Amino acid sequence: MNDNSFWDYLKEGILNLIYPLSCENCGIQIKESNGYAICNDCLSKIKLISEPYCYRCGKPFSAMVYFEKEAICADCLNRKNHFYYVRSVTHYQGVMRKCIHLLKYKKQVKLVRPLGNLMIDYLNRDKFIDTEEIDLIVPVPLYKDDYLRRGFNQSGLLAKYIADYFSIPFSENLLIKKRGNVSQVGLSKKERKSNVQNVYLLNSSAEIKNFSRILLIDDIYTTGATVEACCKELRKAGIKKLFVLTLARGV
Ligand SMILES: [Zn+2]
Ligand SMILES: [Zn+2]
Repeated sequence: MNDNSFWDYLKEGILNLIYPLSCENCGIQIKESNGYAICNDCLSKIKLISEPYCYRCGKPFSAMVYFEKEAICADCLNRKNHFYYVRSVTHYQGVMRKCIHLLKYKKQVKLVRPLGNLMIDYLNRDKFIDTEEIDLIVPVPLYKDDYLRRGFNQSGLLAKYIADYFSIPFSENLLIKKRGNVSQVGLSKKERKSNVQNVYLLNSSAEIKNFSRILLIDDIYTTGATVEACCKELRKAGIKKLFVLTLARGV
């Protein structure tokens, strides 16, 4: 334990004595919290997405369906994706739903660590990409008004955490979001697509000619319209290989 982590540990211990934290999921008092608002027991219950899933977009298949290695879902057969692969670590439900809510709306940024670790473990385990071949990690951006209101981009924090772990260059501002979009909730697939069209742009001051393999990070994958819009922009700029990892998956 270095000096810094010792003091952090001590500070955390004292803070826990004064303000005991209870788990936002199960309500028990957290003894050693590391400052997370979810207890270790609940964090360990997060169910990970496992095979079978679509080789391209990561959509889980029903386990009853006969599963061929590298099988592709009907959506991917009927469209041209700008990404190579999308993978998501967990379903957007239960404890994970709570964690993402706490991170985004209650500013529980300490959760970036356990959630980022889930994404790192996934990359180490699943090997859908060779992390040594990734030139750059970028997050799906937030619109600047939303960024200022929240004070951070949750996908940016996760992306930075992963980039630091693998020592891969990171760029928070390679992509920009030109305007806030209407909430995606309750929109059809088609409406969602037009909702994000021309919203994500490449930052005009960005230098990208040295990059050919990019890993895009987002918190939640729903219809894929957002990551597809981002990947389309990066493709236009000449990036050949685009991979996407999201923390959770809504469908
Ligand atoms: Zn708990
Ligand atoms: Zn698919």
